[in-house]
Amino acid sequence: MLNKRCNESFVLNIFLRDCHFLNITVPFRLNIRLLISYLIFFLSIFLSLASDLKAAEPVATNIRIGTHLKKTRIVIDVSDKINYRIFALSDPNRIVIDLPEMTWRLPAKVISQNLVDNRNLINNFRYGYFRPGLSRVVLDIKKPARIKSVFIITPANGKNYRLVIDLVQTSRKKFLALIRESKLKKPLRTKKERDPSLKKELENQLYNMIPTKKKPRNEKRTIEKQKKVTIKPVVVIDPGHGGIDPGSTSGRVFEKHITLAAAKVIEFHLKSLGRYTVFLTRRNDKFVRLRKRIAIAKAHGASLFISLHADAIKNRRVRGLSVYTLSERASDKEAADLARKENKSDVIAGVDLSTESPIVSDILIDLRQRNTMNESSKLAIGLVKHMRKITKTLSNAHRFAGFAVLKSPDIPSILVEMGFLSNKADEKALLNPKYRAQLARSIGKAVDDYFSSN
Ligand code: ZN
Repeated sequence: MLNKRCNESFVLNIFLRDCHFLNITVPFRLNIRLLISYLIFFLSIFLSLASDLKAAEPVATNIRIGTHLKKTRIVIDVSDKINYRIFALSDPNRIVIDLPEMTWRLPAKVISQNLVDNRNLINNFRYGYFRPGLSRVVLDIKKPARIKSVFIITPANGKNYRLVIDLVQTSRKKFLALIRESKLKKPLRTKKERDPSLKKELENQLYNMIPTKKKPRNEKRTIEKQKKVTIKPVVVIDPGHGGIDPGSTSGRVFEKHITLAAAKVIEFHLKSLGRYTVFLTRRNDKFVRLRKRIAIAKAHGASLFISLHADAIKNRRVRGLSVYTLSERASDKEAADLARKENKSDVIAGVDLSTESPIVSDILIDLRQRNTMNESSKLAIGLVKHMRKITKTLSNAHRFAGFAVLKSPDIPSILVEMGFLSNKADEKALLNPKYRAQLARSIGKAVDDYFSSN
């Protein structure tokens, strides 16, 4: 009888294989069940506490911008005393404030409300996650400015710490001198970066080195190996924007969230087909530089790269999807404007591009890239065909322009503008998971067509 009871529960049997020897009674069996539920309960409490501990980072609760005489004052309310680094960047002119990684709990309309007073030096600003250990505020300034003073006010009566920055207008010459000066200062380093053993690894991450393919030692053996294993083509999905770069916005709807949601459904769908290996360039709300996105695709050995975006424009009536491929010459003015806008992502995040080789402005297209561009077009044309069945597309839905993110010389790449957040119908569709699933199925069909024809 007891033995039978022991067999009743698989879980109990794991704990009590020998229960019949112990002459166990029913109440004890119940206690074991109780014990297990207690264990699960405490484990879940422990795990949530552990995640809370990990999340114990400073919290920013507000950013306020005001004008006092000729001084523009920026006040950032924070829960803790924090380190900071402030520097300037030119063309376009920006003031960048680096802060430790923190949680942002700012009022919903913090940006629009702070930009009402047009006497101040600030045109626009952004804030958010920049990279591990680092948050950032980027101020777009109307005129060259210098930092007159920076200080922290310690809390009184339970108020927050306040980081106060005063800016005043200056000449371009002095502004450029300030930039040169701030370049000499040490950047704000995270704990991880101070660890010398991790320095090299982080350098690779930070400066987005494109990994080079290692030559196989024994080519013959590798080829034989490859013959035995059928390798699935790799598709890399690139959710546009992220972190400090929100992309286009429409009220509280941010492009960066739409692109990530769409990317995850597309990943799920492509994986479910069983024919592809799929990677995303980002899986959460973090900023990824444009050249890093290309590097991620290359590192995964991508056969296809699909970048996802959703535009917003002044004309709220314009709606529809479009697919872009790389070209030296843009197909029309809108395509050129859009590429310019999308290529600004690094500028928006306050990245200093002055010391880098350009990937954005020069498009040097060699023969290999020409072939890649033809392949990209093939995918784009196929995708437009499938998309027409489920949604509105722009006229000439396949367009061309110099998008930085499409510049891999050997990976066919497309950029899908899924619609306009500035248009009610498009926005509603993009916010709908059912529509995003339809979109994913169409991309699946286009990818299938592409590989079956190759
Ligand atoms: Zn975009």
